[in-house]
Parts: sequence; C-alpha cells; structure tokens
Amino acid sequence: MIQLRSYLGGQWLAGSGSPQTLLNPATEEPLANASSVGLDLRGALEHARTRGGPALRALTFAERGALLKAMADAMQGERDRLIELGIANGGNTRSDAKFDVDGAIATLLEYSEISKALGARKFLVDGEGIQLGRSARFHGQHIAVPRHGVAVHVNAFNFPAWGFAEKAAVALLAGMPVLAKPATSSAMVAHRIMEVLAAKKILPEGALSLLVGSPGELVSLLGAQDVLAFTGSGDTGVRIRSARNVIEFSVRVNIEADSLNAAVLGADVEPRSDMYELFLKDVVRDMTQKAGQKCTAIRRIVVPKDVIDEVKSDLIELLATVKVGNPADEDVRMGPLATASQLSDARSGIERLGGTVVFGDKQEKPAKGFFLSPVLVQSTGDAVHEHEVFGPVASLLPYSENPAQIVARGNGGLVSSIYSEDQAFVEQVVVEIAPHHGRVFLGHHKIELSPGPGTVLPQLVHGGPGRAGGGEELGGPRGLAFYVQRVALEGSRPVIQKLIG
Ligand code: NAP
Repeated sequence: MIQLRSYLGGQWLAGSGSPQTLLNPATEEPLANASSVGLDLRGALEHARTRGGPALRALTFAERGALLKAMADAMQGERDRLIELGIANGGNTRSDAKFDVDGAIATLLEYSEISKALGARKFLVDGEGIQLGRSARFHGQHIAVPRHGVAVHVNAFNFPAWGFAEKAAVALLAGMPVLAKPATSSAMVAHRIMEVLAAKKILPEGALSLLVGSPGELVSLLGAQDVLAFTGSGDTGVRIRSARNVIEFSVRVNIEADSLNAAVLGADVEPRSDMYELFLKDVVRDMTQKAGQKCTAIRRIVVPKDVIDEVKSDLIELLATVKVGNPADEDVRMGPLATASQLSDARSGIERLGGTVVFGDKQEKPAKGFFLSPVLVQSTGDAVHEHEVFGPVASLLPYSENPAQIVARGNGGLVSSIYSEDQAFVEQVVVEIAPHHGRVFLGHHKIELSPGPGTVLPQLVHGGPGRAGGGEELGGPRGLAFYVQRVALEGSRPVIQKLIG
C-alpha cells in the first residue's frame, strides 16, 4: 500500500504512529496510509516563514504569476493521472474529477493573468494619494504588503485539487508561502500535485509545503503574521476560530463552512418553458454532481405552491435516470459519498430534516461502498433551514408570496439562485436575499453553457455570512486582501511617491 508523506521544510517526511487508511469509497479497497504523528510542524512553519516568504517577496507580481502558470502547466501535464486518483480516492465520476482538476488549473491560470496587470510591483498600491493638509507636501497613501508569516490552508475532502489550487494561487501571488493541509480521506490528489510540483522545482524552497494526515497542533502554532484559510464544516470552523492563540495573536482566519443554498423558481415561469427546464437541470446537476458533496449545491428548492406537484414529479422523473454506482464504470452518473462517516451523517441528516422522502431510498445498504441514491424531501419544518445534509439530498419547499423570507431562514449562505424573467420579482428577491449571501446566481436560459450556481468562478467572490463562515475568497484581485497588510503611509509626498514607484 502507498505510504503518503508530507512535504515539509523542503523534504518528504513520513509520520509515525498508527496511520489513517485512505479507501476507494466505491469498493472500500484500501489505497494508501497517512500519518502526521511526530512531524516537526513548528520547524516546517519556520522554514516557510524564513525561506519561502523572503523568496516570494523578492519577486514581482508578474514573476509570481509566472510561477502560477508553471504550476498550472505541470498540473495539466499530470491531468489524466489526477483524474484517475479523483475517481479512485474521491469516488468521483470522470466528469466530477475533471470539474475538480480543471477548476484548479483554470484558477491558477486566472491568477496568473491577474498578475500581469499588477506587473513589476512587489506590493499593492491601494487607491490614490491624498493631500492631508494645506500643504501639498503633507501626503497620505495606502499600500498593502505581503504578511511575513505562513498562509496555512486547511481544506475539505470534496475538492482536493481545486481547494488546494484556489487558495494557493491567491496566497502565492500575494507573496505569502503556503502550507496546505488537505482533508486526509481524499488526500491522494493533493499529494500527487505536490509530488509533481516538488519534482519540477517550480517554486522557491519553502514557498509550498504539504501536511498529509491529521492537523495535530498546527493551528496552535500560528502567530500574528500567519493567516489561516479553512474550508470545512461549521463545527471545525468554530474550534479553529476559538483557539487561544488565534484570539490572543489576532491570527487572521477565513472560514468557508456550511451552506443551505436555495434555488427559487419565479411564479412567472411556465412549466416546460426554457427557463423551467434550466431550473430543473441545475437542481438535478447540483444534487448529483460529486454526489451532492459541494458546498454550493442547491439544498432548498423553493417553488410556487401552485406548481410544487409538477416540479416534484419532473424532478423525480429526472432523478430516476441517474445511474448510481462505481464511478470507474463509464455509464455511472453519480458515485458514492467520500467516507463511511459521510454516509452515516447523510443518513441521519435525512432523518433530521423530517418531512416526507418523495424520492430515494434512505435505507439502502449495499454490501460495499458508501452509496446513497439521490434523495428528495418535501418538508415545511424548521430543520431544512438549519441542517446541511452533505450529500445528494435536497428539500422541496412551497411559497405563496415572498420566497426571499424562506431563503433568508438559511441564516447565511454561499449562493442562492433565482430563475425568473419578471424583472420586478428578480429585483425584489435580489435586494432581500443579497445581505445573506456571498453570491446570487440569476439563472437565464439564454446564457449559453451556463455552469449553474454550483460552480465557483475565480473572478467572483466565494464565501458567505453567518452559517457559511463569514469568509470571502477569490473575487479576482480582491482575494489578495486576505494575505496582505494594509498600511497607511503618512509623510512627505515626494518621499512617498518615490517609495511606491
Ligand atoms: P471537516 O471535518 O471540518 O474537515 C475539514 C478539514 O479540517 C480537514 O482537512 C480536516 O482534517 C481538518 N480539521 C479537522 N479538525 C481540525 C482541527 N481541529 N483543526 C484544524 N483542522 C482540522 O469538513 P469535511 O468533512 O472535510 O468537509 C465537509 C464540510 O465542508 C461540509 O460541511 C461542507 O459544507 C463544507 N465545505 C465548505 C466549503 C466552502 O467553500 N464553504 C467547501 C467545501 C466544503 P482531517 O481530514 O485530517 O480530519
């Protein structure tokens, strides 16, 4: 069996102690072992701070962007292998695995492009200079400089390539070294990416490290110049945020957590119209892509009460065509959940939602593999607004007047979507739901090749208030803000102007 190692302090190191076994979730075949026990995390962080940080800060944005392009090219060269690993270790269909790997490459390339506009500078100039007194010489200017710590990236299991790349792209472009910690259960993809990047020596020493296995004391070792970007469950997010050193040293933390994303169908949308078909297609894609294990997947399907029976029967008909099985088989459209505990959480979560299961067999127990069929629940209870079931599960909810009030009950989300051609309705719902979200997706059948609400694009911000963790990532150059310190320079105008170049 493969022994996964960590890449820390510029070396590949294996942990000791009893390892965690990574499985193929479709067959339960053991694929690899991983342990981080005994690894010198303090030393690894210091190596990144003292070697990787200065090396990156010595580069211009354009030079850092060239590194991102080289990372993307190296991953492109390894694309087939990464997809195979996503299928085997993640339970992804080929299409799911491509979504992850291609999304990772595209995000690196997007940030490489962004670097061109930032050009020959090594830090950001924030806005115009300001005359501060009667004399034009008394001048102010904001700049934003890379922090001198490490960007620690803790990722969820569902996007091992994209999660790694979307965070690394932004931090490296900003000029901070990265220590990435993939979720252990699906770490084979990120491990392979690190192997390729390390072998090709694309990045300066210390600029990129990988911790495979449990996080151990990692969070408790972070200090005032470090930042921590976390993606995962709300419960883990709370533990991280409340760590003593995080509070004491004001460690900058970004949390990307759970979300009860909603899709709203407007009352103007006629069944069988193009807009209606798009709505159904987006709901079914989000329920089944990656077996519903997407933070942005539609969890609440909010439809006018007059058409709920029609929507229900159409969704049931579409869900019944989804072949669930081992994703190594080409005709399978939905694979298993990632782990036994994800399956058990999803099953108990369905119970917790209450209501009536109108499609799917929540009790099915195949002999091998962590399979669950798509499950459609009809409910008007509170739990659908309170509990995220991280699997191919969504709830159908009726509205009679104002769907925005229903959507807002999710208490903060990553993305919700509206499908309507009634401009007044769209405006009203956008205004009411926007404060509760990081992104609002306006579905329209005339947008060609629309990726649907579940796809996170590097040009737009990702994150959301409340339950979603209160974080914000990506958004083009906006994403750099997390990794830099904004500083106000106050003094003589010629001195400041020379300094900023
Ligand atoms: P999780 O159990 O919270 O784990 C996430 C990551 O945190 C893993 O790398 C895990 O490591 C690590 N971790 C666990 N305990 C930790 C601790 N005390 N300190 C530091 N790190 C710790 O979440 P998951 O099951 O992987 O992911 C599913 C959840 O993530 C869902 O709720 C989903 O909504 C959310 N999610 C959100 C987004 C988003 O962008 N908002 C994206 C994807 C997923 P180990 O694997 O080694 O335990």
